[in-house]
Amino acid sequence: MKLFKPEIVFFEPSSLKYPLGQELRMRFEKEGIPIITTPAHNVSRSIPGNDEKQKYARAKKTLVVATKKSMKLDVCKPSADFEFSLATNCPGNCEYCYLQATQGYKPYLRTYVNLEDIFNTIKRHINKEENSVTVFEAASSGDPLALEHLTGSLGKTIEFFGALHNARLRVVTKFDNVDSLLDLNHKGHTRFRVSINSRYVINSFEHNTASFEERIVAASKLSKAGYPIGFIVAPIMIYKGWKEEYKELFDRLKHSIDITISPEPVTFELIQHRFTPSAKKFILQRFPGTKLDMDEENRQLKWGKFGRFKYVYPKETAEDIKQYMSGLVRDSMPSAQISYFT
Ligand code: SF4
Repeated sequence: MKLFKPEIVFFEPSSLKYPLGQELRMRFEKEGIPIITTPAHNVSRSIPGNDEKQKYARAKKTLVVATKKSMKLDVCKPSADFEFSLATNCPGNCEYCYLQATQGYKPYLRTYVNLEDIFNTIKRHINKEENSVTVFEAASSGDPLALEHLTGSLGKTIEFFGALHNARLRVVTKFDNVDSLLDLNHKGHTRFRVSINSRYVINSFEHNTASFEERIVAASKLSKAGYPIGFIVAPIMIYKGWKEEYKELFDRLKHSIDITISPEPVTFELIQHRFTPSAKKFILQRFPGTKLDMDEENRQLKWGKFGRFKYVYPKETAEDIKQYMSGLVRDSMPSAQISYFT
């Protein structure tokens, strides 16, 4: 797929004290990309746009080079112990994106250049008890592979975890630029979960991400390179022909991924489509012609943390999805583990 190139880059002054910040500045200057040095709080108001759609589109082409200030990591249960960020947001335009309602009206991309500080923070959060392994998630606030061709930060992080005997890294991606990661000394300490879906969902709702074919090829390459791998099938949607299309997906996986070479069982995380009222508002403004099914009449409420709620499929439909998708996993990769369905 075509790799991301920013339209404009903002540098936080502190980022230029780090080698990666300086390297990025030189690179973008050479490429003739407009550069502005300014504190992060000025970025939002500098992104133009007359309406929500325009602001969103411009923000997604804006990169901020920054330093990570907070050195406290959030807990990330149940998929990991803690989460951290090398970058926030991503250049993809998935209509249903889980970040729609959390990253404000101008969801620009941000990359952090003080990697050593981030690594020291990770080390401080590792449980030092004997035989204990602490798991860290790197994709809670964006797609860490999307900027890899510019920063190389994910590769450095994979090698950092490769050298730790008591910590593991987990990454989720919808991008396919994995070639620079294949020969790294990862020691099997990083699990990639490739986010996949049916052709209809990818083609209709996941703009500017790797295609159906490209993701399967990327997963196959990662698996051959010895990484433990998994798949996040999300969001699973019901539409005319959904069963046939998800079957096609699993047939393709079966023939493309050699599970016998995986150092650990392949995992599947199955997530049905859901939306919150605030996400729906953002989605309708940003994608006025969206074909996403967000009719509350056809859904049931599910309460989450802090009294928030979301709309999910009704119980019987959700059960049908769960049974059908679990059957596809069992038939295509009998030794795979289903981590959860939600
Ligand atoms: S790739 Fe992930 S983070 Fe990026 S827009 Fe899509 S869902 Fe959101």
